[in-house]
Amino acid sequence: MTSEAFRALLARKTESGQAIALEQITEADLPAGDVTVDVEYSSFNYKDGLALKGLGRILRTFPMVPGIDFAGTVRASDNAGFKAGDKVVLTGWGVGESWSGGFAERARVKGEWLVKLPVGLSTRQAMAIGTAGLTAMLCADALERYGITPGGDVLVTGAAGGVGSVAVRVLSRLGYKVSALTGRRGEADFLTGLGASAIVDRADYASPGKPLAGERWAGAVDTAGGAILANVLAATAYGGAVAACGLAASSELATTVFPFILRNVALLGVDSVNCPTARRLAAWERLATLLTEADFALVTHEVELEALPALAGDILAGHVRGRTIVAVR
Ligand code: NDP
Repeated sequence: MTSEAFRALLARKTESGQAIALEQITEADLPAGDVTVDVEYSSFNYKDGLALKGLGRILRTFPMVPGIDFAGTVRASDNAGFKAGDKVVLTGWGVGESWSGGFAERARVKGEWLVKLPVGLSTRQAMAIGTAGLTAMLCADALERYGITPGGDVLVTGAAGGVGSVAVRVLSRLGYKVSALTGRRGEADFLTGLGASAIVDRADYASPGKPLAGERWAGAVDTAGGAILANVLAATAYGGAVAACGLAASSELATTVFPFILRNVALLGVDSVNCPTARRLAAWERLATLLTEADFALVTHEVELEALPALAGDILAGHVRGRTIVAVR
């Protein structure tokens, strides 16, 4: 362990809640993991927006470096699976919530949480994917595993966001006919550029609807929850499935059993945080082969650590397009 100082966005507890500031810290301020990583890139996710705003009880202890994912190079390792110089990526496992995370030039974590970067994938590309992109891939995997085969009509909600945009790209690349549900008509060109064949207005799904609607979708990836998820379930065709991963609209779900008991529709839960390692590795490998350099350019823009506090409100308001990469060093 060195006493060298490095930059970190640090959340400290205050009387009124929490304060976030860019500070110089040392390795002594990091938790006691067995692998230390020089963080090159992190990314900005919806959950990071909640964390920086002090919402949703995301940050569990203080002081805490937020940032739920990162990619970088191993600096030192006491774990037999990793050695200095390995390129690694981390998503989930409570990092950036209850364990200091990616918004710092250095992170120390448990080696079992790290994934070695698939061949051909840079640390920047890994964070262009990040937690959101991994989640999108896990959703596509879930639909496939359930038997929703390419060629069918699938809907992606929150399509212009991080999970949504990667889901549109990945599903269209896998051969599905993808409709993109968005509240931002202005993002229609962005979404068709990612492979969406139709744009669906969020307003059509945002209010409580009928228990069953016309059988429109063979499958869906839902990042919204609430009335949108209920309406997607109601419009899912016989034998179809909805992979639910988010709550951008609401954590509530008021629905009926009719889609399940009359149409054999399945609601598939998708979690990326504690996702088993084998499934996680397979998803990273698949993403590395499915996405091209042009895809990364299309879905991402890059910011520095300093910009993040101001971006938190934007991501929670649904104003951020695609994926935001954080260049940490
Ligand atoms: P983003 O903010 O990038 O995207 C969310 C998108 O949802 C927005 O871009 C917007 O898309 C849409 N949206 C925003 N507000 C509303 C609203 N009130 N009603 C309906 N749609 C809305 O977030 P992420 O992509 O990072 O995350 C999306 C969701 O998935 C979040 O709830 C996040 O917590 C969850 N998540 C879950 C994971 C898991 O492991 N289960 C992992 C990663 C994320 P548009 O403008 O196109 O409508």
